[in-house]
Amino acid sequence: MPNIKYVGKNLFIEKLSVANIAKKGGTPFYIYSENQIKENYIKFVNTFKKIKPLVCFATKSNSNLSILRSLGKLGAGTDVVSIGELLKALKAGIKANKIVFSGVGKTEEELKIAINKKILLINCESESETKIINKIAKRSNKKVSIGFRLNPDIDAKTHKKISTGKANNKFGVSIKNFSVFFKEIKKLKNIKLEALSVHIGSQILTDVPYKRVLTVLSKLIKNLNLNLKYIDLGGGFGINYNKKDKPINLKKYSNLVHSFSKKLNCKIIFEPGRSIVGNAGILVSKIQYIKNGTNKKFIILNAGMNDFMRPALYDAHHDIIPIKKNSKKIKGIIEFVGPVCESTCKFGKYKNYQKIYENDFVAITNVGAYGTSLSSNYNTRPLIAEILVNKNKFKFIRKKQNLLKLISA
Ligand SMILES: *Cc1c(COP(=O)(O)O)cnc(C)c1O
Repeated sequence: MPNIKYVGKNLFIEKLSVANIAKKGGTPFYIYSENQIKENYIKFVNTFKKIKPLVCFATKSNSNLSILRSLGKLGAGTDVVSIGELLKALKAGIKANKIVFSGVGKTEEELKIAINKKILLINCESESETKIINKIAKRSNKKVSIGFRLNPDIDAKTHKKISTGKANNKFGVSIKNFSVFFKEIKKLKNIKLEALSVHIGSQILTDVPYKRVLTVLSKLIKNLNLNLKYIDLGGGFGINYNKKDKPINLKKYSNLVHSFSKKLNCKIIFEPGRSIVGNAGILVSKIQYIKNGTNKKFIILNAGMNDFMRPALYDAHHDIIPIKKNSKKIKGIIEFVGPVCESTCKFGKYKNYQKIYENDFVAITNVGAYGTSLSSNYNTRPLIAEILVNKNKFKFIRKKQNLLKLISA
């Protein structure tokens, strides 16, 4: 996290000391480096410079309006998975012709709005959805561009709960079923198949499964003699949560995609989420209590699994680091846990951690993606604040949720 690092003993985010913000009260909160988000986006675009892809940021990874606005200004489009996300993207100033809509269960109501807003592509995930789009379009005498999401049955070699491109995952339609349905699509007068899309999973750390996808797609396009305007290759690019994770080599992949797109003469769409915002945020939390267990010490934070779900949901590892470093050590094992009444409300175990005390602050790292967007009100806890830092300035981009509103129903 180049924009989130220690200066001396103190953790800084860009030019601001995290401790100074935390001391003002209001922990826990999410805090992001705006320049890290921008740098990640620009680096991604530069990696694929030769291809000039449309980069549709996966809104579900972080749907804060200010972050969407910031990415929109750099030219990003968005991938949305609900009408809420679609309306948010438009509100953030992202043009409809840069928005793609994915998801296996889009409702008729959602599809109607997407069609009315004239977004770039609706990526259909079933035969029935395609027919409903055709029906809606027919009613208003329109011809709607669609993409079709394929399930290429490729193992992304990632955590099973974030794999999406295997035959037993609900996403997309198999190559075989699509090949059959394709003949029917041609008969539907009010839709036009302009794209194929794939998204095989998340936190992918090698280019091997991506290469396989290109092979499968090339073969299918050739067999069916398809003439497409876009190929949407999805997202899923992994980040380094652990120091031992090797980053994915996108340069090599970009060369492959380049020749793939030239051969087919179509525009490439990517939908990165995690790799754009993941390393740009931390969750700052106060140590509420420290309690001795039988064989470890419990470090009880004021942030809970409702604020940050990934460890409970995916056994995800996120380093927890002190806001102020010291050179003393705690003997034995400690475990960071939260206040929510579930045994899975815990964030990681450490050995030989530095000395920490009640009321100290710590930061859970790499929480920019699937952090706040997965949070909930479980245990009737208000959604926490989000802060955006740019150089030596910070602003609240979401206030802590109002408790009176929370208890109103
Ligand atoms: C979640 C999702 C993405 C983003 O995945 P990341 O791993 O965050 O890059 C892209 N496309 C679709 C269809 C998704 O569901």
